[in-house]
Amino acid sequence: MKFLDKHEAYLKYFVDEFRKRRGLKLKGSCSCCGSCCDGKIRVFHMNTETMTVDLIKRKEEVCPNYNTETKKCNMYNDDRPILCQLFPYVPENLYPNCGYYFEKE
Ligand code: SF4
Ligand code: SF4
Repeated sequence: MKFLDKHEAYLKYFVDEFRKRRGLKLKGSCSCCGSCCDGKIRVFHMNTETMTVDLIKRKEEVCPNYNTETKKCNMYNDDRPILCQLFPYVPENLYPNCGYYFEKE
């Protein structure tokens, strides 16, 4: 992962802490399969009381990084927005063929 700015580092810290509080550790890596993004930007709420991650909004406009021909993100690298890089946040977000998995700490 490239050097993160303050805002990105905070978001990464928050997601890491959220997982830790659930006793989870993210393992594996992204195989760039494209399953988890159809270009429509999703907004999640990480609820620290219920410790759930809830989808609260799905925007209609398509992300400029989404390639409608390949049906994949054009930037599966460190230039992606941090919240895309950090996905899946918790096991409930996992897609069946995802290269990531979670282990109990
Ligand atoms: S940057 Fe890539 S992964 Fe993130 S919403 Fe856009 S197309 Fe999807
Ligand atoms: S489903 Fe997993 S492996 Fe596939 S693009 Fe999303 S994060 Fe990467």
